Amino acid sequence: MANRLTNYAVIVVGGGHAGTEAAAASARLGRKTALVTHKKPTIGAMSCNPAIGGLGRGHLVREVDALDGVMGRAIDRGGIQFRTLNRRKGPAVQGPRAQADRELYAIAVQEILSDQKDLDIIEGEVVDLLVRNDRVTGVALSGGVELVADAVVLTTGTFLRGEIHIGAKRIPAGRKGDAPATALAESLLSAGVALKRLKTGTPPRLDGRTIDFEGLAAQTGDHPPKPFSFMTERLDRQQINCHITYTNRQTHDIIRQNLTEAPIYSGQILAQGVRYCPSIEDKVVRFADRDRHQIFLEPEGLNTHVVYPNGISTSVEPEQQAAFVHSIQGLENATILQPGYAIEYDHIDPRGLKPTLELKNLSGLFLAGQINGTTGYEEAAAQGVVAGINAAIAPSGQEFILDRAHGYIGVMIDDLTLLGVAEPYRMFTSRAEYRLSLRADNADLRLTPLGIEVGCVSKEREKRFLAKQEKLSRANETIAAIKVTPTACTRAGIEVNQDGRHRSGHELLALANVSVTELAQFNAELATIDDEIQEQVEIEARYAAYISRQQNEVREFRREAHLKLPADLDYRSIGGLSNEMKDLLAQSRPANLGSASRLPGITPAALTILYRYVKRSS
Ligand code: FAD
Repeated sequence: MANRLTNYAVIVVGGGHAGTEAAAASARLGRKTALVTHKKPTIGAMSCNPAIGGLGRGHLVREVDALDGVMGRAIDRGGIQFRTLNRRKGPAVQGPRAQADRELYAIAVQEILSDQKDLDIIEGEVVDLLVRNDRVTGVALSGGVELVADAVVLTTGTFLRGEIHIGAKRIPAGRKGDAPATALAESLLSAGVALKRLKTGTPPRLDGRTIDFEGLAAQTGDHPPKPFSFMTERLDRQQINCHITYTNRQTHDIIRQNLTEAPIYSGQILAQGVRYCPSIEDKVVRFADRDRHQIFLEPEGLNTHVVYPNGISTSVEPEQQAAFVHSIQGLENATILQPGYAIEYDHIDPRGLKPTLELKNLSGLFLAGQINGTTGYEEAAAQGVVAGINAAIAPSGQEFILDRAHGYIGVMIDDLTLLGVAEPYRMFTSRAEYRLSLRADNADLRLTPLGIEVGCVSKEREKRFLAKQEKLSRANETIAAIKVTPTACTRAGIEVNQDGRHRSGHELLALANVSVTELAQFNAELATIDDEIQEQVEIEARYAAYISRQQNEVREFRREAHLKLPADLDYRSIGGLSNEMKDLLAQSRPANLGSASRLPGITPAALTILYRYVKRSS
């Protein structure tokens, strides 16, 4: 007879980036939550690169933070180089990124979780799902303990039947040094959840003391560094430089000579890898005309000599790794501390998920992170928040759904649940259609009100957010009240046509080279507004015409999105739809008309028929 421990409202399996967010979100909602993970010290561990954010991914982190998530606050405590990528481009595509001290980051995540009320952390391996009447009611741990709950969130990352490849060697593992989750994969299969394989990889780790940095370009961070979290006022941690080097023809020749033995070309690895983050073997083959590839040498922390060479992920034999590494400038004598490797693992087909991240066919089971076919800490964290909130509120019949106009989180979940994945999914700004409205700088204005409404935002954040909103509207009122003649503009050093027409403050702010600082000449109150508020009003004024056009598109999109398509809709019985359209719709089961319109191959005629049919039957 198995032991029965305490009942929980929500059990989260896995203490990676998805699991920590899911557990923290559920507990923030006041639901008694258990986070079950293999090893407490690996909570918040970064399996691959020591960095958070980047293009598209930085937006996700800001959105997670806007919902009071963990990731933004943790990287602010553990970040050792902060940079805004694409700084010279428009605000829509700028991406905040930070280099992390691996250890400090994990400690920060663990501290935030241990301060979280209503959250128990349990060390153990989940080997089975408890299922009754097509509903998940809990989990069983190795050793016989069973935990029961209203909802379970699975966030097992690369661990489900994970297998590492280093040259010809194959090692069952969830990542280097950690055992795979094999029994749980069997349990999912027996519950009727189909599993597929994907692959990812990591570069060798180098001893920084054996790298010759002389002659390599240094890459510095921003001065002053800008925090990720809307709650962080200042970053005090010491900041470091990264360095840049390149592969060369000799490196590529060494890799080419050994290609037939490389696991990704020998037939040993069959699963699809990350197209946008290829291994060096892949780069040499796919970009055969390039004679060099960039490598960022990223320190893994302030108190370690380990360096992460970003750009040369590989799974060839260790001796071959050493040979090509030593052909690279600065790395001629570098000691390899750990060889690079590839890993194959199981994931589910995310088309089987609702937009709440609950499985359609197995209620009570929510999934988030790499298990849903994504790659990256940020993608995992973003799903974790949504799955955690939904698992927590499910018993009350509520749903927390973000759409494509709310944020990048909505874009990702819509892409995953509608289109599925053929390769690991990662976020890019190009995936979002309302980029100008979904900026990293305004993530709180877009999402914190939704977080407050659902109840996942702390009182402290709510207070700070409301104060910011108040300051923002006061600044906008002050700017709107400014009405100046062309002569007054010229006196203030602002060039406008001398046509006698009065300009409003917002009109002037839309001009290139006019900032709130210039406007303060017309109203001194503006000289005292915070940098954060200044940035907001300037961006909104400068792009006002585009943003307002986008808001109209969003209204149109929401009209379509709000027409729900019943989960049990019998597409075969809709007269006028071709068999091809019926098959497409029946297979994908889009949640609403907006999602149906984004199905590749769907015709406008089919959408019209569907619209009329649903309207008639509602
Ligand atoms: P993880 O961070 O993997 O966390 C899973 C957690 O679940 C772990 O704590 C584990 O112990 C726990 N767990 C699993 N099964 C059980 C169980 N049955 N019982 C209890 N606990 C369990 N991403 C990129 O974007 N680019 C890359 O180049 C890249 N390379 C990678 C290379 C390697 C070798 C690996 C391993 C990962 C790589 N990643 C890369 C992926 C990145 O690490 C993941 O996307 C991210 O960590 C996913 O977060 P997660 O929360 O879904 O899972």
